[in-house]
Amino acid sequence: MSAIAPPLALLAELSHRCPLRCPYCSNPLELERAGAELDQATWQRVLSEAAALGALQVHFSGGEPLVRRDLAALVRHAASVGLYSNLITSGVLLDAARLAELVEAGLEHVQLSFQDTEAASADRIAGLAGAHQKKLAVAALVRAAGLPLTVNAVMHRQNLERLPEMIELALKLGAGRLEVAHVQYYGWALVNRRALLPTEAQLERATAVVAEARTRLKGVLTIDYVVPDYYARRPKACMGGWGRQFLNISPAGKVLPCHAAESLPGFDFPSVRTASLAEIWERSTLFNRFRGTEWMPEPCRSCDRREIDWGGCRCQAFALTGDVARTDPACALAPDRAMLDRLREADAAAPAGDFTYRQIGAARAPAET
Ligand code: SF4
Ligand code: SF4
Repeated sequence: MSAIAPPLALLAELSHRCPLRCPYCSNPLELERAGAELDQATWQRVLSEAAALGALQVHFSGGEPLVRRDLAALVRHAASVGLYSNLITSGVLLDAARLAELVEAGLEHVQLSFQDTEAASADRIAGLAGAHQKKLAVAALVRAAGLPLTVNAVMHRQNLERLPEMIELALKLGAGRLEVAHVQYYGWALVNRRALLPTEAQLERATAVVAEARTRLKGVLTIDYVVPDYYARRPKACMGGWGRQFLNISPAGKVLPCHAAESLPGFDFPSVRTASLAEIWERSTLFNRFRGTEWMPEPCRSCDRREIDWGGCRCQAFALTGDVARTDPACALAPDRAMLDRLREADAAAPAGDFTYRQIGAARAPAET
């Protein structure tokens, strides 16, 4: 086998604790409790190992990474080993003093999530009163501290009509980048698919809004936009391909190719508690299982996009077909695509219903998959 290229980035999920309860949260349904979290010394070793392996960036995430009192110490350590630090946060626990501490430690970028542009709707989606107002204040603090800001807007059936306002909000807050992140349906979002899946008409309007804004705001605001899988003709290259660019570390130390991989059956998930990152990245069964193209079934095996999208998302393939090695049903060429089309049409035509909020013990199986 040819040498395995190093990862580009490490997603460090410091904790699953979070004051918000978003119904599309990418955390697993079985949330880790605080007592299971890695300690500061272990995270610092992991950051050193990631840098030695060749990673360039660390994204501090969660849950809410600010629940960790040692976050500044971890940012400082990341800087000392040459990793670029990005904070992915809901913002509600950030204040000027904490931000100053992080900037002094070497934090280089903040990615702040927004649930909507209208406070009442945003707070309802977040499951926390007052969250939206707090986020507006935090965005101003981040810009005043001189840090680049990315607005992460998770869009779905219940807020997609306000995408033009979201673009204006990102501009007003001084963001350099806006991620228009359509919900993708695994984990909590799969549980809430009926409440979140947009209609085709909504999606078409949103895509036109982004196209117009990208032209108008060229050089001012970069807008990232990916069509939701359920409406795509071809899947996205999930995490840039399995085991190609990203390492995800769970709060308890499991090392995963993506944040949803804990949902997959039949794996012993490797842990930083018992192995080095290099051993796991290069030699673990988990990381090698879907790396490259050898594992692929038809039609991927003989498809000219196989090294572009890498067969799509393994977690989605498993969630919808029960077989982790199937072609992602988000691909129009997949044998299971008709099933995904039926689910989409049924959900988009049904009333949205209530959210199942993200919280320990709240998840139930989706109504139909
Ligand atoms: S998606 Fe919402 S609930 Fe999940 S970690 Fe982010 S802010 Fe917290
Ligand atoms: S057949 Fe496989 S490789 Fe080809 S576009 Fe679909 S998912 Fe991608």
